[in-house]
Amino acid sequence: MQGTLRGGSGPGLCAVGRWTLLVCSFFLASALGQMNFTGDQVLRVLAKNDKQLSLLRDLEGLKPLKVDFWRGPARPSLPVDMRVPYSELKDVKEYLESHGLAYSIMIKDIQVLLDQEREAMAKSRRLERSTSSFSYSSYHTLEEIYSWIDSFVTEHANIVSKIQIGQSFENRSILVLKFSTGGFQRQAIWIDTGIHSREWITHATGIWTADKIVSEYGKDCILTNILDTMDIFLEIVSNPDGFAFTHSMNRLWRKNKSSRPGVACIGVDLNRNWKSGFGGNGSNDNPCSETYHGPYPHSEPEVSAIVKFITDHRNIKALISIHSYSQMLMYPYGYSLEPVSSKEELTWPVGSPSTGPMTAASSTPSALSSGTLGSMASCCQPHRSSPRPRRRGWQFGPL
Ligand SMILES: [Zn+2]
Repeated sequence: MQGTLRGGSGPGLCAVGRWTLLVCSFFLASALGQMNFTGDQVLRVLAKNDKQLSLLRDLEGLKPLKVDFWRGPARPSLPVDMRVPYSELKDVKEYLESHGLAYSIMIKDIQVLLDQEREAMAKSRRLERSTSSFSYSSYHTLEEIYSWIDSFVTEHANIVSKIQIGQSFENRSILVLKFSTGGFQRQAIWIDTGIHSREWITHATGIWTADKIVSEYGKDCILTNILDTMDIFLEIVSNPDGFAFTHSMNRLWRKNKSSRPGVACIGVDLNRNWKSGFGGNGSNDNPCSETYHGPYPHSEPEVSAIVKFITDHRNIKALISIHSYSQMLMYPYGYSLEPVSSKEELTWPVGSPSTGPMTAASSTPSALSSGTLGSMASCCQPHRSSPRPRRRGWQFGPL
């Protein structure tokens, strides 16, 4: 487990030097049975047309699976990124070349990057210990995050509380932070991070967001207006079993850890387990696939806990799920090309400001049309200069 590795990366066991550290980490990881990705590459492929796109989709259906799509085949204008295990590299490259699919090597050896990441974590952990502080710019284990949650809630008890909404398949607690300035069953915003366990940057984003909410309340006008009238629920580790597994055994694990009798492969893609669009585009009915949707909607305890919490609450007005990779802002629904009725409102502020929520607020109750707006009006101009996302829209890839 991570505790042993921590000791191994520290000064006591392995004396000095970067390379010594890496070698120690490698042998300890190997001894503990951690998966090693030496020689695995990430290839970027650009399909010229739908036929080539279809050839890439065929790769996904091969059994046993040969590639792990980081950005799946969506449409010809978008690149496809896939991790190819070292053992499959020759075959996959031959397949691409024989079909005229141009590719480039985006990551030459994944394990090199993972070793660097582990080394950076060990270094940060030593610093945290020596300064008794929590680093918001480093990755943390499940135990460290849950311990931080406890301290965070104690420190900011006036505005944050911790709720356990359920238990994971392996009986880990599923925790949600509630940010509230009072009231009863107020309108609320739901935010989740880490539903795909290997997307570590999203857990870090969740932790940073939590800290930002408490530190900016009373200073940032928009946030203050929201929290004066609404609650915010934040689930930082939405897939605790998968996340623990990424630290202990397989850094690139994406699904949860559920198993079923007679099913050879472990795990369900929690982001394909929702009832909405279940079994549609971008999901897979093969339990060994990274995008396996599970046996039926909401079959997974991690998903059903969220569904129960939100439906029982009855006053959640917005849901934001944060993923990493692809640099996309996606609106409902990821499985369809059909625009939703509220498309105009959702595109604000990227779209026309006149169609955004500031207009909607005049006829619809919202944080920005609340009674507190008057008292904050002197500093609360709408932030219309928010940074533009690099791309927006749908994709059928494995977000
Ligand atoms: Zn994701």
